Amino acid sequence: MISFQFTEEQEDIRRAAREFAEREFTPELAMKCDREEIFPFELFKKCARLGFHAIAIPEEYDGGGYGPIEQMIVMEEFSSVNPGLGLACLIPTFGVEILLLHGSEEQKEKWIPKLARGEVIMGMANTEPDAGSDSASIKTKAVKDGDEWVLNGTKQFISNGSIADFILVTARTREVERFESRHKGISYFIVERSREGYRATKIKGKMGIRATDTAEISLNNVRVPESNLVGEEGKGFYYMMEFFDITRVWVAAQAVGIAKGALKLVVDYVKQRKAFGTPLATFQYIQFKIAELSTKIEAARTLAYRAAAIQIEKGKPDNTLSAMAKWYAGEIAVETTNWALQFHGGYGYIDEYLINQFYRDAKITEIYEGAKEIEKLIIARNIFGFKGR
Ligand SMILES: Cc1cc2nc3c(=O)[nH]c(=O)nc-3n(C[C@H](O)[C@H](O)[C@H](O)COP(=O)(O)OP(=O)(O)OC[C@H]3O[C@@H](n4cnc5c(N)ncnc54)[C@H](O)[C@@H]3O)c2cc1C
Repeated sequence: MISFQFTEEQEDIRRAAREFAEREFTPELAMKCDREEIFPFELFKKCARLGFHAIAIPEEYDGGGYGPIEQMIVMEEFSSVNPGLGLACLIPTFGVEILLLHGSEEQKEKWIPKLARGEVIMGMANTEPDAGSDSASIKTKAVKDGDEWVLNGTKQFISNGSIADFILVTARTREVERFESRHKGISYFIVERSREGYRATKIKGKMGIRATDTAEISLNNVRVPESNLVGEEGKGFYYMMEFFDITRVWVAAQAVGIAKGALKLVVDYVKQRKAFGTPLATFQYIQFKIAELSTKIEAARTLAYRAAAIQIEKGKPDNTLSAMAKWYAGEIAVETTNWALQFHGGYGYIDEYLINQFYRDAKITEIYEGAKEIEKLIIARNIFGFKGR
């Protein structure tokens, strides 16, 4: 027997998330944060008081104690009302899974309850100017000096980079031997933004998700104590791959939410907009397109929640399903927002129309946490049994 029904409790979470988003994600705030590229701190505080951002953090660290499904429900609902504000509310704990899985008890006690209460914001930094998809080719180095590590390097496109209290940063702690896998020798460090030598430059002019903060971070002789090393030295690359397998379903839920929200906007629009003396909704071409998109969204949604359900049942993520869910849902979000904007005609091209924001916000789901080509590489490797380079 397979159940495709959410439990009553999950439906309650969905209703609560929806009500919060509809009440707080006002068009004025959405427009302001989008146009001016401002992170909505007040909104985040309100969200944190209700614990939506920390729904999957264990109760022992003051979180909600739920799992990936409930986290996805919140993400889906928030994104369907406003993708930019929705993400801004939920991204402040980005990377917490790495701390939960591999952090020392001292690190967890120090940071996670504060994260869960919305008192601090974190991020996770691997990407560099010359290392994105090829995430093992990072150049940032950490060198041991007595009981400290000294970090030097540049990180690119880091979410929360200029507003976070601390970032989990990857750095090479050891050069690999000639015949050794280059995935070895990378380690994670907690780097507080207040450390001397940490400089964040906010990246302006993003196409979408403009309510979130993205920064370039330069680390210039940043010293952190030995106790800031997360997990085992040299295991950072593997922690990162594990992290993405877990969180890709979260991006899939974001993409499904964006697609659902865009579909609702366009259905409402074509019902009232007339051409040739009749509402656009009466044209069969438009009806068919909406029917097709609606079906694809349902397929993406089913895949995304199945990937998360398997994660719970097996006790670990299914690498292939997580990649499939993220790739497919991202593609459907981009396709849906494209058609939804198209059927708004010229009005869709103007940023006062919400569909314009959805169209721009959708694209990121095909780029971050592994661009869609990388998802396909993972799927193909697993089919053919190839090993990664
Ligand atoms: C808004 C935003 C927020 C982000 N937040 C974070 C963050 O918080 N932390 C972080 O570490 N990073 C973050 N990133 C970075 C993001 O993860 C990278 O941009 C992404 O992994 C792609 O890397 P790249 O930009 O270097 O592109 P590249 O790696 O240069 O790739 C360019 C294109 O080539 C394709 N490609 C690359 N290799 C192959 C291949 N072998 N086969 C086929 N195609 C290939 C890619 O799929 C892509 O389409 C963020 C990016 C953005 C835009």
